[in-house]
Amino acid sequence: MFSRRGFLAATAAVSLAPRFALANEPADVIIIGGGLSGLNAALILREQGLRPIVLEAASQVGGRVRTHQTAEGPIDVGASQIGRSYARVLDACWRYKLKLIPEDRDLLTFGTHYKGAWIDNATWESNPLNKCVGEERKIAPMMLGSRLLGKYNPLKELDDWLNPKFADLDISLRSLMQRHGHSEQAIELASLSAPGIGIDETSILRMWQEETRGALDRKFGAPPPAGESERLHPFGEQHHRDLVNGLTSTSNIEGGCHLLPAAMAADLGDVVRLNKHVAAIDLTDKSGTVRCTDGSTYKGRFIISAVPFTLLRKVKITGAPGGAAAQAIAQMPYANTARVYMHVEPFWLEDGLPPSFNSDGPLGMFWAIDNHKGTGIHRAMIVMVGRRAAEISQRDPAQVVPFLVDELARLRPASAGKVKVATYKDWARDPLQLGCGFSLAPGQINAFARDMNKPWQVMHFAGEHTRRTDFGMESAMESGERAALEVLTRAG
Ligand SMILES: Cc1cc2nc3c(=O)[nH]c(=O)nc-3n(C[C@H](O)[C@H](O)[C@H](O)COP(=O)(O)OP(=O)(O)OC[C@H]3O[C@@H](n4cnc5c(N)ncnc54)[C@H](O)[C@@H]3O)c2cc1C
Repeated sequence: MFSRRGFLAATAAVSLAPRFALANEPADVIIIGGGLSGLNAALILREQGLRPIVLEAASQVGGRVRTHQTAEGPIDVGASQIGRSYARVLDACWRYKLKLIPEDRDLLTFGTHYKGAWIDNATWESNPLNKCVGEERKIAPMMLGSRLLGKYNPLKELDDWLNPKFADLDISLRSLMQRHGHSEQAIELASLSAPGIGIDETSILRMWQEETRGALDRKFGAPPPAGESERLHPFGEQHHRDLVNGLTSTSNIEGGCHLLPAAMAADLGDVVRLNKHVAAIDLTDKSGTVRCTDGSTYKGRFIISAVPFTLLRKVKITGAPGGAAAQAIAQMPYANTARVYMHVEPFWLEDGLPPSFNSDGPLGMFWAIDNHKGTGIHRAMIVMVGRRAAEISQRDPAQVVPFLVDELARLRPASAGKVKVATYKDWARDPLQLGCGFSLAPGQINAFARDMNKPWQVMHFAGEHTRRTDFGMESAMESGERAALEVLTRAG
């Protein structure tokens, strides 16, 4: 949240400051990227009297907030879930009169397909395939990663993940589990459900950042009904429909989440320029000049980069001082997710297996989403993350969906002919994203994450990857707010 006193001071200073002359039109701050972070920075700067211009490479704003219009209606293929503690996102939704609706995504019972067999989670402890030892044996196979992460998470404050006192924990989940003497099978099972890129590729401090923020979200509202507090799925939780301050635990935007960035851009009017792909940035200590692939140039007293580092590393930047940001831009890894959105007839009534399931094969997860009627058409998703998502991105795109539908039919023959695919999205293949979200490898928090947001000359950094305390869409808004405040502080 920005401080009112700080804002008033900044506003007073800004109103006295001369406007900076630009190449073709007056603007003070050039913002690269029209996702939530860039749009939020622009709204704050404009509100405080500066003239921003947002350059967005795509023909629409929103970035990873994306809604596909399908024959089955709008489907959010990027962000969709809004938590009760999303102060900035909720504020923006209310400001633009967007209708928040309770999330209609209750996950049906999950099963596990592991080593070619269907596992009953309730009897897993005594299953001959269970080679775990001690307490590990009792944890459902696909819950091992998230359960152990939670067990060992020492972080209390939202920014503890960056606190040097935890520097010793900038390690992989595999190393953490080895430190605690876990079995080889427990490590293998954890690798199937570990968040981020994978058990070896992601720092647990990065994993714990999200987990600690998620715990805060759960405090906003009444405790879940008795017996429902346990997480049922490594990547999803039971959705609680009890209203607290008019909100269920997770809300969606009626009509699709893209309505939020669209409303922000409409408010900004001609501040937002579409189809402006930034190819080069030239920085001095007094100004920055940005060149787009169509030959247009924009000069600003300040620049805010609000694009993922996967894209910023393709931009030719001159006059940059290097340091932690240079390391982060060049090296920060990105996770991926690829998802098939579908409608299915409830084939689980035929085969008697749990509707949703995790598998150790290429399909990853199949999520059946309740339509609250039992027998009607259900929405469903195949969700691939981590290693599965990386592998699927290597396949011929035209073959991916048929391959996955076939794989579903191989595991669940009863699904054959009962699946209708609505849309598919692989974020690593999106040329303006090249991944679904930032990651940090073991050692990278100590190497550069603490200092990577320090401005380069007049260029400041925003985007979810520059978060300090939040997650999801809220972290993009947080980062845009921080970058705008940094600029306002210097603008006088
Ligand atoms: C599949 C998926 C599901 C998600 N689910 C949720 C959820 O349920 N809840 C939640 O809170 N969050 C969710 N998120 C996370 C959320 O979408 C992101 O954190 C947030 O939208 C990121 O915003 P951003 O502004 O940082 O970046 P982006 O949205 O990536 O915006 C960056 C923009 O920069 C543009 N750009 C790139 N290169 C250039 C260039 N050279 N020149 C000009 N423009 C450029 C891009 O086109 C893009 O519009 C999800 C994300 C994904 C991918």
